[in-house]
Amino acid sequence: MNSESPTIMHDVAALRAAVAAARRDGLTIGLAPTMGALHAGHASLVDAARRECGFVVVSIFVNPTQFAPSEDFQKYPRTLDADVALLARHGAHLVFAPPAEAMYLPGHATTVEVSSVAEPLEGERRPGHFRGVATVVAKLLNQVQPDIAYFGQKDYQQTLVVRRMAADLDFPVAIRVCPTVRDADGLALSSRNAYLSAEERRQALVINRALTKAEQWARAGASDVEPLRRALLDELATEPAVALEYLAIADAQTLAPLVHLDRPAVVAIAAKVGSTRLIDNTLLPEPG
Ligand code: AMP
Repeated sequence: MNSESPTIMHDVAALRAAVAAARRDGLTIGLAPTMGALHAGHASLVDAARRECGFVVVSIFVNPTQFAPSEDFQKYPRTLDADVALLARHGAHLVFAPPAEAMYLPGHATTVEVSSVAEPLEGERRPGHFRGVATVVAKLLNQVQPDIAYFGQKDYQQTLVVRRMAADLDFPVAIRVCPTVRDADGLALSSRNAYLSAEERRQALVINRALTKAEQWARAGASDVEPLRRALLDELATEPAVALEYLAIADAQTLAPLVHLDRPAVVAIAAKVGSTRLIDNTLLPEPG
């Protein structure tokens, strides 16, 4: 493992110059956009990028426009030194950590709005969230101009939104989606897990238990969604401290609700444990 420290850059002109130099050297450029407070999930994106790209950029930017006023923007964990140490261990070449003023110019007035896949689930519960995500990802893609950009399945709907945007706006980039990294007990790694007490963390495991049950039902050949939904709701109800926001069993491409498991499906869950909002999902292959 390369443990040389990555170069840290805060402004777009320096970033562009460094990426241009790497490109002149014939290197493939990879980008993993993050909000920092990095963990092994983020590291897996860097590892995937290192396997395919000669020059790996990781952006760290807690994007204010994807948080609603009531959400946790102010208290979101910011751990730049530890993040850079992790990125050094995983061989990232450049860390782009712009200040908010560099990302949002005075008088900025342009946003990117994706409809369809951005509308249900997170789109309903977090109005404006995907506008913030799509806008910042579009900016990062323009700033870095990577050949390949890496995202985690953990934020499944976000991967659909980014793919839709990149296709619709002709970004010359390949989008890769990396599997969700979990702790040994099954909890999906998330920067927000840092907010959980030990008790809440234990309670949160019910989310993964429900997803695992969905996978078992699919493997056993279940074809109707309604009994599956009831079984998952029963499982989730075993942990009354976990307040379910939604349980979706939907078409994996369109996110339209399914009646039968007759095509690739996603099971997506959002729930609050104490004051911490968690999301997780699993993909169910087409039966047969
Ligand atoms: P975030 O810093 O939460 O905005 O996440 C940055 C990227 O890392 C997104 O593409 C996430 O989907 C991805 N990511 C976050 N957690 C995980 C995880 N547990 N496994 C894989 N990817 C993840």
